Amino acid sequence: MEPKLSPLFTKDEIAAAVSRLAAEIRRDYRDKNPLLIAVLKGSFVFLADLVRQLNLPLEIEFVRLSSYGKGTESSGRVRMAPGAPSQIKGRHVLVIEDIIDTGLTAAFLLDYLGRKKPASLKYCSLTDKKERRRVMVNIDYRGLTVPDKFIVGYGLDCDEKFRNLPDIYTLEQ
Ligand code: 5GP
Repeated sequence: MEPKLSPLFTKDEIAAAVSRLAAEIRRDYRDKNPLLIAVLKGSFVFLADLVRQLNLPLEIEFVRLSSYGKGTESSGRVRMAPGAPSQIKGRHVLVIEDIIDTGLTAAFLLDYLGRKKPASLKYCSLTDKKERRRVMVNIDYRGLTVPDKFIVGYGLDCDEKFRNLPDIYTLEQ
C-alpha cells in the first residue's frame, strides 16, 4: 500500500521553532565555545539551519546511533557506531537531535558522553514525542511537540525516504 503523508508542520513553523532554539542557545553559550554533537542521520537538516543562526565560536561532531531498524518500529536497543568523537573532556557539549521518542537514545547518549567528563552536557531536540516516553530525560532545548505518530520530512526518514521534504508530515502505512 502507498504510504499516506499528512501535513503536520510547515517549513515556516519549523523555521520559527529553529530561530527560537537558536536564540536560547546563543544566550546560554555566548562565551563557552560549545561542541555540538549531532545525531545522524536525522538531525542533519536541523543542524544546518540551526548553526547558521549561531554566531558564536563552536565546533561540530557527529555520532551515529541506531534504535530503529527498518520501518517505523523501534528495536528498543541503542548502539553506538564506530567513529564516536573522542575530545569531550572539559568541553561544553550540546547534543543536537531530530526527535526524542522513547528517550532511550537520549538516555544512552547522555550516559555515554557524561562518562567522558564534559564541562557541561545539554540536550537539544527539534521535536518531542512526549506521549511515548519510556525513560525520563531532561531536554534543555525543545522545539516542537509531536503527537504519537510516525513523522517524516526535514531530515526525518522512513526507510531512508522523505528526508528531503522541507515540511514535516505524519506517515500512515
Ligand atoms: P528514541 O530512542 O527516543 O525512542 O528514538 C530516537 C530515534 O528514533 C530518533 O533519533 C529517530 O531516529 C527515531 N524516531 C523516533 N520517532 C520517530 C519518528 O516519528 N519518525 C522518524 N523518522 N524517526 C523516529
